[in-house]
Formats: sequence, C-alpha cells, structure tokens
Amino acid sequence: SWDTDWLKKRARITPDRVAVVDGETRERWTYDNLNERAEHQASLLLDQGIGKGDRVALLAPNTVSYFDLLFACMKLGAIFVPLNWRLSSKEIAYILQDCQPKLLAYDDKFLPLIPNKYEGILLGVQQLLAGSQPIIPFDVSIEENDPLAIIYTGGTTGHPKGAVLTHKSVFYNAINTIISWNLTCEDTTVTYMPMFHTGGLNALSLPLLHIGGKVVIADKFEPNHLIDVINEEQCTILLLVPTMYHVLIQSERFQKAAFPSMHTFLSGGAPCSYRIYEAFAKKGLAFKEGYGLTEAGPNNFYINTRDVVNKRGSVGKPMLYNNVKIIDDDGRDVGSSEVGEILISGHHLFDHYWNSPSITAATIKNGWLYTGDLGKYDEDGYFYIVGRKKDMIITGGENVFPLEVEHVIAEHDLVTEVAVVGVADEKWGEIVTAFIVPKGGLTEAEVLTYCRTYLGSYKVPKVIRFVSQLPKTAVGKIDKKQLVEMMA
Ligand code: ATP
Repeated sequence: SWDTDWLKKRARITPDRVAVVDGETRERWTYDNLNERAEHQASLLLDQGIGKGDRVALLAPNTVSYFDLLFACMKLGAIFVPLNWRLSSKEIAYILQDCQPKLLAYDDKFLPLIPNKYEGILLGVQQLLAGSQPIIPFDVSIEENDPLAIIYTGGTTGHPKGAVLTHKSVFYNAINTIISWNLTCEDTTVTYMPMFHTGGLNALSLPLLHIGGKVVIADKFEPNHLIDVINEEQCTILLLVPTMYHVLIQSERFQKAAFPSMHTFLSGGAPCSYRIYEAFAKKGLAFKEGYGLTEAGPNNFYINTRDVVNKRGSVGKPMLYNNVKIIDDDGRDVGSSEVGEILISGHHLFDHYWNSPSITAATIKNGWLYTGDLGKYDEDGYFYIVGRKKDMIITGGENVFPLEVEHVIAEHDLVTEVAVVGVADEKWGEIVTAFIVPKGGLTEAEVLTYCRTYLGSYKVPKVIRFVSQLPKTAVGKIDKKQLVEMMA
C-alpha cells in the first residue's frame, strides 16, 4: 500500500502557496487551507457513516466543494461521484440508481433534479462548507487500485457509463501531464469546463494542484470574464472546448487582447475548426489541440508550439507515460496515413465501468483501451484525430469521415458552424447530411459548388439543412445523436 494522500504532502511542502481561487468572489485558499478543508470534510463524512468504498455524490456548479469532497474521499478511500447537472432528472435518477450513493451533496438550485427517494441521504453544500466539524483521526489503508472517483461519461453516444478512476489513474495522469507538458508550480489555469467532467477536473486542475500551481474556478463561460480572470490572476494555460473558443474569438475584447501571461491555449473534447487555429496564429499566440477522454487520463498527446503550424490539425505525439497505436478492422497495426481505431495503454487508464463487466471487457483488452475513435499518424509520427468510429458514414459503399467534410464547409466565409452526420437511406445506406449555421445569405447551391471544389463527389452532402444553432451536450460538444434523431 502506498500513501495516496498527496494533498497532505503538498500542503506540507508549500503550505502558503495559493492553490485555489474562486473566480467570482476571488476568495483564495492556500494548500494548507485546502488540505484542512478536506480533513474537515473527511471527518464530516465519517460522522455521516461514510467509509471506504462508499459513494459520495455531488450535484453542484463549479465551486471549491468539488475539491473539498474529492480530497475528503481521497483521504477516506470513499468514491467521489460528481454529477452532470445539465442532465434531466430522469438521467440523474439513472445514475443514482447505478452508483447507489450513501451521501448526496447538492446545491439548492439543483434540488428539483433529485428524486424524492434520496431525501434521506441529502446534504446541502452550504452545510458542507461550514467546515466546523472537529477533525476526527482516522486510519484507513488505501491501495493504488482502489477507486477514487466515478465519472459518468457525457452520454454523447448512449447511456451514461460510470468510468471508475483509481488513485493510480488520477496520479499517473497528473504525473504524465506535468512532465509531458512541462507544467510547473508557476502555472495557473482557470476552469470553465464543468468539474463533473474530466475536462474540468482532471485535464489541468488536478495536475496543477499536484505540482503546486493555482486553479481558478469559474462557472459560466463568458469572454469578458475570461479575459479579466486571465489578466488579473496571471493565467498561463487554459483548456476550453471548441464551442467556447468560437465565442471567444468572435468577441470584441479578443481582437485587442494580448494575453502576455499565457503560454498555452488548449482545445479538447471535440474537433476544432481551422478558423480557431488561425485566430490565434494571427495574434502570435500558442494554440494547441489535445485529444482526451474520460477513460484515459484524459490527456494523451503533446505537441510543440512550433509544430502546430507545420502539422495543422495534429494533436502531436503520445506523451511520456502512455502508448498509442492505430489498428485496422482485423486488429493489425496500420501504416502511416492509414485510418484506424485509436488504442491507448498506460497507468492513467480507468479501471472499469461501474456495474458493467461486459462493456468493460469489450473496451479494455490486453491492457489496451479501445477508444472507439478513428485516427492516423503521418510519416513523422504525428497523430491526427479523424472522428468517432460510430460517426463514420458509409454511403453507397464508400467511407466518409464527417470531420473532413466539416473542415471544408467550416472554411467558407459565410459559415459559422457546421456538423455533418449520416442519415439512414434506402438507396445509399446512409446519406451525408450537413447542418449549417450560416452567417448571411448562404444558399444550398453555393455550399454544393464549394464542396465540389474541395471534396470527392461521394463526400459532398446530399442534404443540407440551415439551422440557427446546433444542439450541444453538457460540455458544449455538438450533439450529433440529436441531429440524427431530428432527421428521423
Ligand atoms: P460518451 O462516451 O458517453 O459518448 P463522450 O465520448 O463525449 O461521451 P468524453 O470522455 O467527454 O465522453 O469525450 C471523449 C471523446 O471526445 C473522445 O472519445 C473523442 O470522440 C472526442 N474528442 C476528444 N478530443 C477530441 C479532439 N481533439 N478531436 C476530436 N474529437 C475529440
């Protein structure tokens, strides 16, 4: 057994450094404060009868309570389950039924989402924050493979599945990220990504707390707020989903902002349009794309700033402590430039899906995670994400990767946003269908002529729908499932 409580040690090494800042109130907590809060929370949980292996759920907006409960669970060996508050009460009921929490901490505004039958295990976040509980000494033995958190994946492609992260997987993602991305205690991030999601919790926040950096917690994404926080807190690194970058680059303040403290703007979670790359390149700012998923870290690749220009659209090379390979349908490694499924291995992988041994067995085989995503690498070993395997369109027997079509359409001046999906069709099997948010008087004929210039004929959309906006998931990814349903 190893001592899994790294926060305690961090608090010993850098007690006075600021660890966490509330992006609204600007209340600040040092490492010492953070550790002490977690110890109070752990005592409070113990008092509520929570022990090793028990699930502690949280339904709250981005606040320090995520860290309070996560670290309390880390100390106790309990399992932290952050809940996605953008889900319907039915979906939340599904998750609660699945993970059976012994305690459910909630913020008042989300109370209506909680089914009545959980009344007996509710605890208001305000009560948690009071922190008056005296610290009770406790002694638990925690193994590296014990679960630390269950993160239910976005549900972009189906029922939410509870990905079980162990102390080891969280630890290795932190170490891998710190070393591979050169993070130091001088780094500061601000998270607008929801903290119930791996993007808000694991991508930068926990690695930075590990190394002694600073995490600013923000709740609602808004460009002016972001630019103020970056300047006032001297942020150095930022992760947003492409949808947020879209909003940012269109804002007036962005045009004038210089961002002198920032060394890296990261995009992840969904495909990123070249227009975003260009907006940052024009300002001479370092913009990079990462590829991640709940089940693997989430971080898996690193790209040097100078390579972003030569290798447009690449996520770079696998990081120091994880491996990536691409296989074809027969399970063989593919050569450069060939598209296949992305497989990942490393200590940062999740352990299993909660209550789902058969899905787990189909997802992790011989230590490799089958991501369900398609990718390729070039002759220099740089990787490119091609899209989700399930999203690949087969039309008249030809394979079409929606991302390729999306990249072409997105370059058109009169296109704000685009999503391409396959819609079932008797004659073609599936037909390439484009949903476009236009900027002005864009016509179908114009889109088609444009596409025919850049795409093989079978890739050109057969159906085009102009819409005022695209449906998005909780983290701001385009909800393709909903688009397909709209056409059915
Ligand atoms: P669910 O698994 O329930 O469908 P989800 O796939 O959205 O939800 P996440 O872990 O939030 O779950 O997201 C991981 C997925 O996001 C990846 O498997 C991949 O499809 C997509 N993704 C992440 N980064 C990128 C990227 N840079 N480019 C394209 N797609 C990406």
